[in-house]
Amino acid sequence: MLYSEKVKEILRGIAGREPLSFETDAPLAPYSSFKIGGPASFVVFPETVKALTEVLEALSELPVRTLVFGNASNVLFCDDGIDGVVIFTQKMRGLSLLDDGRIFAEAGVGLTSLSQFAQKCGFCGLEFACGIPGNVGGGVFMNAGAYEHSLSEVISAVDYWDADNKRTVSADISELTFGYRTSCFQDGGRIILGAYFKLEKAADPEKVKALMNDHLRTRNEKQPLEYPSAGSVFKRYPGYYTSKLIDEAGLKGASVGGAQVSEKHAGFIVNRGGATALDVMMLIKLIQDKIYLLHGIHIECEVRYIV
Ligand SMILES: Cc1cc2nc3c(=O)[nH]c(=O)nc-3n(C[C@H](O)[C@H](O)[C@H](O)COP(=O)(O)OP(=O)(O)OC[C@H]3O[C@@H](n4cnc5c(N)ncnc54)[C@H](O)[C@@H]3O)c2cc1C
Repeated sequence: MLYSEKVKEILRGIAGREPLSFETDAPLAPYSSFKIGGPASFVVFPETVKALTEVLEALSELPVRTLVFGNASNVLFCDDGIDGVVIFTQKMRGLSLLDDGRIFAEAGVGLTSLSQFAQKCGFCGLEFACGIPGNVGGGVFMNAGAYEHSLSEVISAVDYWDADNKRTVSADISELTFGYRTSCFQDGGRIILGAYFKLEKAADPEKVKALMNDHLRTRNEKQPLEYPSAGSVFKRYPGYYTSKLIDEAGLKGASVGGAQVSEKHAGFIVNRGGATALDVMMLIKLIQDKIYLLHGIHIECEVRYIV
C-alpha cells in the first residue's frame, strides 16, 4: 500500500497516547460474521471516540482509503481484501444513562447490550433490537430493525464525524433521514460516533425482559445461527416476504462452492465452510435471476459488498 509507512507512523503516534490497537496485512474474515474476506493493509481498533476521531482526522491528510465498520454483520468483504485502512468500532463501548433521561451509546456498543441496558434502566422500546448482532454505529447506518420496529423510532440524536469539515457534529433526529434499512449516513462523509436514545418508561420491566428473551429464543429457533452469515441477504420487496419467495422458488439448500441458501431460513445465505465472497455473489445472482424470472421483480441486497 502506498503511504504504508506514513500510516504506520500516524497509528503508532496515536496508540502512544490513546487506547487504540492495530494490525497490518490482517485478514478480514475473522472479524466478519460471514467469516469471509481477504486482508486489509491496516485493521484498527480505537477504544474511544477521541482515538477514532484522531485517526480519521490524521488519515484525512493522506490519499488513503479509510473504511469504518462495527461488528461487520451486514457486510461481505471481497476475497482480494482492502488496500487501505479498515477501522472497527467494536471496542468503543461507552454506554450511559444521561441526566435528561436519554441513553447515550458509543458506536461500538452491541445492539443486544443496548437493549439489555435500557431494560435494566426501566425503559421499553428497544426490545426489538435484542438479538441483532450489530453495533450502534452499523445499526444507525442501516436503520436496523425487527418485528416492524427500527432504530429510527427511538433515536433522539446522533454524534458523527463530518469528514468534509473535519469536526464532530451532534445532529438532532429532525436533521437526519431514515427509511427502511436506509439512513442519510449511507450517502457517505459521516462517521457515526455515538447515538442518543429516548425511550418510554416501562409499565412492567419484567414483561420487557420476557419479550427480549422471547426474541432471542425465536432467533435461535428460526435462524441458522450455527453457521456464519450476514443475516437476511435481501431487503423486503414491497408486498412480498423475500425469504418466502426464495423458499417457494425451490432454492432452499441451493449452493455455489461453500455458500448455501440456508435450509432453515431461505432469506439467509450461510457459509458452510470455505465459502468465498465470489461464491456468495454468484449465489446472490442466481437467486435474483430466478426470482426475476418467476415474478418479474428485482430483489435488492441488504448485505453490503465491500470491494
Ligand atoms: C444472524 C444475523 C441476524 C441479523 N438480524 C438482523 C435483524 O433482525 N435486523 C436487521 O436490521 N439486521 C439484522 N442483521 C444484519 C446486521 O446485524 C445489521 O444490519 C446491523 O445493524 C449491522 O451492524 P454492524 O455493526 O455489524 O455493521 P457493519 O456490518 O459493520 O456495517 C454495516 C454498514 O454500516 C457502516 N458503518 C458501520 N459502523 C459505522 C460507523 N460508525 N459510521 C459510519 N458507517 C458505519 C459500514 O461501513 C457498512 O457499510 C443480522 C445479521 C446476522 C448475521
